[in-house]
Amino acid sequence: MSVEKEKIKKTARMYALQNAIQFHGKANEKAVAGKVIAAFKKESISPKEIIPVVSAVVEEINNIPLEEQVLELEQIAPELLHKEKKERDFSLPKLPRAEKGKVVTRFPPEPNGYLHIGHAKAAIVDYEYAQIYDGKFILRFDDTNPENAKIEFYEVQKEDLRWLDIEWDREYHTSDNLKTHYKLAEQLINQGDAYICKCTPEAIKEGRFHSKACSCRKRSHGETLGIWKELLSSGESKGAILRLRGEMKSANTAMRDPTLFRVIDKEHPLQGDKYRVWPTYDFAGAVEDSISGVTHPFRTKEYELRDPVYFRILSLLNLRKPHLMEFSRLSIKGMPVSKRKIKPLIEKGLVLGYDDIRLPTLRGLKKRGIVPEAIRQFVFSQGISKAESTVDFSIVEAINRKILDPKAKRYFFVSNPVKLSVDDAPKRKISLKLHPTVDMGERMIATDSVFFVQKEDMQNMTTGDIFRLKGLYNVKIQETGDAISGRYEGEKLIADTAKIQWTTKDFIKMKIYVPGLIFKKDSYNTKSLVELHGYAEKAVSDLKSGEIIQFERVGFVRIEKQEEEIIGFFAHK
Ligand code: ATP
Ligand code: MG
Repeated sequence: MSVEKEKIKKTARMYALQNAIQFHGKANEKAVAGKVIAAFKKESISPKEIIPVVSAVVEEINNIPLEEQVLELEQIAPELLHKEKKERDFSLPKLPRAEKGKVVTRFPPEPNGYLHIGHAKAAIVDYEYAQIYDGKFILRFDDTNPENAKIEFYEVQKEDLRWLDIEWDREYHTSDNLKTHYKLAEQLINQGDAYICKCTPEAIKEGRFHSKACSCRKRSHGETLGIWKELLSSGESKGAILRLRGEMKSANTAMRDPTLFRVIDKEHPLQGDKYRVWPTYDFAGAVEDSISGVTHPFRTKEYELRDPVYFRILSLLNLRKPHLMEFSRLSIKGMPVSKRKIKPLIEKGLVLGYDDIRLPTLRGLKKRGIVPEAIRQFVFSQGISKAESTVDFSIVEAINRKILDPKAKRYFFVSNPVKLSVDDAPKRKISLKLHPTVDMGERMIATDSVFFVQKEDMQNMTTGDIFRLKGLYNVKIQETGDAISGRYEGEKLIADTAKIQWTTKDFIKMKIYVPGLIFKKDSYNTKSLVELHGYAEKAVSDLKSGEIIQFERVGFVRIEKQEEEIIGFFAHK
């Protein structure tokens, strides 16, 4: 058997065992083939060569008992035995009234901006529940306000979700269903459950505040229907709205005849000027959740008072009622976790754009080196409690660090560099490990008598002090000041000597952007973005743009190549 075939067989066996163990001892050929094909993609081995091997291996594996499968996998690839289990090990509680195969969830963003970590919370919870219950997950663009919806954001938001590894079973736009909404509105009018109100916004507010109905409430259905039709077709009756005949005396202000439809004369990015009467969130949200088959819709807690409106609308229309759920809105200390707060920062030029590394937008987080898996784990760590709290971003950082630590290559970076000349320095060609405990290879560094070290490291040194150039040898200080000189002081590790980062004169100049909190005590922090200048070792220039590495003693940094320059974005310590 060829070496190649042997390799395919080995990999196939590993994944077949894993798959079999997950599914009561019987591996699925297609699932295994998918994994093996992916594993050999880089080596451009074609599926044609792989599939027959997988087929034979799966048959073999399916003929051995589960206990033996587990034993074998423990021998050849123990990490696969535990991995899948861990991935699903999170804290989402059981859904009430949920049946396997029948749960439908949805994520309903308004296409009016880039998604942020708060949206990630909602999307991940919705998506994850659909996975847990073998259900369906719908991506619904709630684009019923043509003032806000912008064509570019439909695509942008999908890209953001894909980055989080979220896939959806169905995608649609609420604006595609407007005809249905109109029909349902007419039904309410004909039932006498909705009326046209032409009062000014101030008068309406006033009336709601004092629990006082206005005279519009007395309009007959016939008259209301007439004005409604006029609204739909002509430019007349500006300012008229359709209101639910709710309870003006209700203790819950949300129930005091909420608005169902209003006129917005603005071109819609998808519907053009086809419509001018648009449903409110109260109406569209309830109707869409119901008619699209959603069983467990989640909303943030601030909508709780509007729940009775949601159910009233569905009751009156005789539509199925989903099991509405709430969780707290995510807030992070010093960060704007809301499109409404992010937008003005961009417009006023206080941040550099939607992907500014100080922002909690998914693009900003990605740019600074927060990985999607960290966001997922963070969301699970927060759970779906209703308790409002403001969390510290350091929680995200800690999770990200844990994920990156065994994966990120380590290099030297010297900020505020000062020159160090070493007398009697032996010329060396050393190889340094890219990671102290995980095998990631090494990089070679040639040294002579000139080094650059960090000014702060040298500040407290005086003549005669000995320190160690990390990974190299000891140096004894001869002269301090602007140009520092020292002497080679042997190789032997000396206890308690400082180990200092260095570069040779073959360095690359680098600028690292370090993000801070945008808000301090609710006002804009003018020092929220600082630049760290320094020298990185040469090997950094071989890194790919987008790679996240660890600069020892500095922190985790995402590398970006820009024309002549290499810049870094600081993730965290
Ligand atoms: P924003 O102020 O950011 O515009 P929004 O709620 O108006 O917030 P939508 O696009 O309407 O933004 O939100 C889509 C979904 O994401 C909703 O279900 C909403 O509840 C959820 N969501 C938005 N922000 C947060 C947050 N900070 N925490 C949790 N969920 C959020
Ligand atoms: Mg919104």
